[in-house]
Amino acid sequence: MKTSDSIQQTLAEKRQARALVRLVRDLARSTPTQPQKHELHGQPFDRLLLKASPLYRRSRELFIACGGTHMPSLHSSPRSLASLSLVSRDIEYSPIEAELIWTATDPIESRTRPDRLLDLRTWVTGVFHEQNHRVLWNLLPPPRRGGEALRRHLHFAESLVVMLDMALADSLPRAFSEALYQVGSIYDPGAPWLDDLRKSGLPARRAQRYHWNALQAACEATFLNLELFDPAQIPGHITNMFPAECAPPTARGRPSLITRAARRALRLDRLFVEQTNPEWLRKHGTKAGKALLKLQPPGRAKTPDLDLGRDLDGFASRNLLSERVLSYYCT
Ligand SMILES: [Zn+2]
Repeated sequence: MKTSDSIQQTLAEKRQARALVRLVRDLARSTPTQPQKHELHGQPFDRLLLKASPLYRRSRELFIACGGTHMPSLHSSPRSLASLSLVSRDIEYSPIEAELIWTATDPIESRTRPDRLLDLRTWVTGVFHEQNHRVLWNLLPPPRRGGEALRRHLHFAESLVVMLDMALADSLPRAFSEALYQVGSIYDPGAPWLDDLRKSGLPARRAQRYHWNALQAACEATFLNLELFDPAQIPGHITNMFPAECAPPTARGRPSLITRAARRALRLDRLFVEQTNPEWLRKHGTKAGKALLKLQPPGRAKTPDLDLGRDLDGFASRNLLSERVLSYYCT
């Protein structure tokens, strides 16, 4: 006999599945008919993203320029998270776009088995996120050897990639970012509170500066989160590191852009922070460090030159690098 909890869960899944049907239909309708340069055949909504976002296009171009390749295969997102594929130049992705769209648009399938979409989306690969890891291995200084320093290096790299996930979502129309997040093509749903900044009437350069400050604050908050600082304390640490002039003035009692950015970063899945990520480091950390040293581009000095220290000691270095990454991708 079904308990009331399991009945509630089944109903919630049915609602989720029906919502997903609508989102996939909307995305399919918005997808351009014209193929895009460097498009990945079968990657869900790759064409739409290439058309809609210069940042998404830039990531693809940078990845190809550093020798990366995409390989269609059956690759679940949990397997991707658990593997050492991060230090390989090749990215495996599941070409399931046609299956997703058919499931959402076929009149019988979408009515009788919409829950198949919940399974299908676990096969969607976040290629933007994966590409950026590979691009950043070329951009960051080589990792220091040894447990703590290597752990900080890998955590900081993850924080930068998460920052770019946010920047991508912010570069898209809101209706797209939320839907693409629900489908699994991108890893951040966007931040509605940034609309205040868009509508503020500030000169474009000033608004972009505030936006970058917010992204850098989110990057720092992600780093502290992965380093297992107390999540309740992180917004306070971030507000202290980014002075008031980093954000536009807000009405009395409303949180500043920087505080909201820190809270945005703290939405990162707790299971990932506390279990999946530490487990990955235990299993693959040493091998990943060695592989990263081998991946350094020719001509790069093998001596690591920046201390990414755990807190304020390393903050200046981390902030410098997050600025450099945003410039590299966005200008
Ligand atoms: Zn990652």
